[in-house]
Amino acid sequence: MTPPPFDPTTIRRDFPLLTTPFHGKPMIYLDSAVSGLVPLPVLGRMDHYQRLEHTNVHRGVSTLSQEATDRFEEAREKVRSFLNAASTKEIIWTRGTTEAINLVAQTFGRANIHAGDEILLSAMEHHANIVPWQMLAEERGAKLRVIPMSDAGELILDDLEALLTPHTKLLGVVQVSNVLGTINPVKEIIARAHAKGVPVLVDGAQAVPHLTVDVQDLDADFYVFSGHKLSGPTGIGVLYGKKALLEKMPPWHGGGSMILSVSWEKTTYIGLPGKFEAGTPAITQAIGLGAALDYLQGLGLDRIAAYEHELLHYATEKLSAIEGLCIVGNAKAKASVLSFVLEGIHPHDVGSILDHDGIVVRAGHHCAQPVMQRLGIPATTRASFAYFNTREDVNALVAGILKVQEIFK
Ligand code: PLP
Repeated sequence: MTPPPFDPTTIRRDFPLLTTPFHGKPMIYLDSAVSGLVPLPVLGRMDHYQRLEHTNVHRGVSTLSQEATDRFEEAREKVRSFLNAASTKEIIWTRGTTEAINLVAQTFGRANIHAGDEILLSAMEHHANIVPWQMLAEERGAKLRVIPMSDAGELILDDLEALLTPHTKLLGVVQVSNVLGTINPVKEIIARAHAKGVPVLVDGAQAVPHLTVDVQDLDADFYVFSGHKLSGPTGIGVLYGKKALLEKMPPWHGGGSMILSVSWEKTTYIGLPGKFEAGTPAITQAIGLGAALDYLQGLGLDRIAAYEHELLHYATEKLSAIEGLCIVGNAKAKASVLSFVLEGIHPHDVGSILDHDGIVVRAGHHCAQPVMQRLGIPATTRASFAYFNTREDVNALVAGILKVQEIFK
């Protein structure tokens, strides 16, 4: 059966914020890269769980507890299927991308990275994939090395083999840059790193809302993302890791749920994935993330990607035509993230004036200060598009930008 046409007008009804007056106007939300809006069916699923199904999981024999555990583990299975991971043992719940990377740094990193070793990162990483490694490198006497990028915002991979030295213990790379929108060729990068025996962590925070991800096809060793960028709630995220690697890693947080037995002399741990999930997890949020995946799959991940691609193309064309506007990030392969600077006007002023017009964008360094340093700019204004945005939203952004320019003339 042919699915109905992709219709953002109908989809928008699932987002009450879009019809709630904001500075006296309907809100135009162009900030999904900072956090996605959560659709009503996802909110409804969490509400239902919390009202009627909730208790703690993996504890006790009560029917309520067993059913809550089933719902929680069903959500894990949804994530497994979404990433095409081989097993739910490879899906670890975390609070988000940041916590997932810290987990890898503090377990895999502390077990494998020592004085003189190197961690190779790309020039367009979010702070979340820099700072945990820098902290570890300082502690261990290891070194960070950087894959450079071009002015257009593409990684320069010509010298990748030279950067992958016998001391390299991990390569960390973002799949989609949150500043530039660049889609990095992570499958190729992983293959080249593996040829040198180096495992790869992929930061998928900005990729999962826009691309279909298959961790087995990518052959990623670790893949991390956050629920709140994916139409799910905050407070939940995922670490995917290859089972063989996760099994060898020591636990990170200690406490209830992750133990097999505890005595004053010794504690033994359970297997995957519980070994990395000490304490009461974010149950409602995990179930919410599962519902978000159902929602997105209901709309069709391929159709979302195609629609957003078309919208990005339209927005790029419209914004490029504005005199004095410079798009930051002109990679050939891009997801629907559009950063720009306006000649003579600080991005914070652009963001504030657009905000008063009901247009929500992000202005700043986007937690990627090394990208700003590389490009020699203090900040950008960033519009990011989701499946509920329309050409009318883009037109409103263009009108808003022209108004900003008029004010600063
Ligand atoms: N990595 C990238 C590329 C991001 O865009 C973000 C958030 O903006 C993060 C990591 C951090 O995500 P979180 O704050 O949800 O942990």
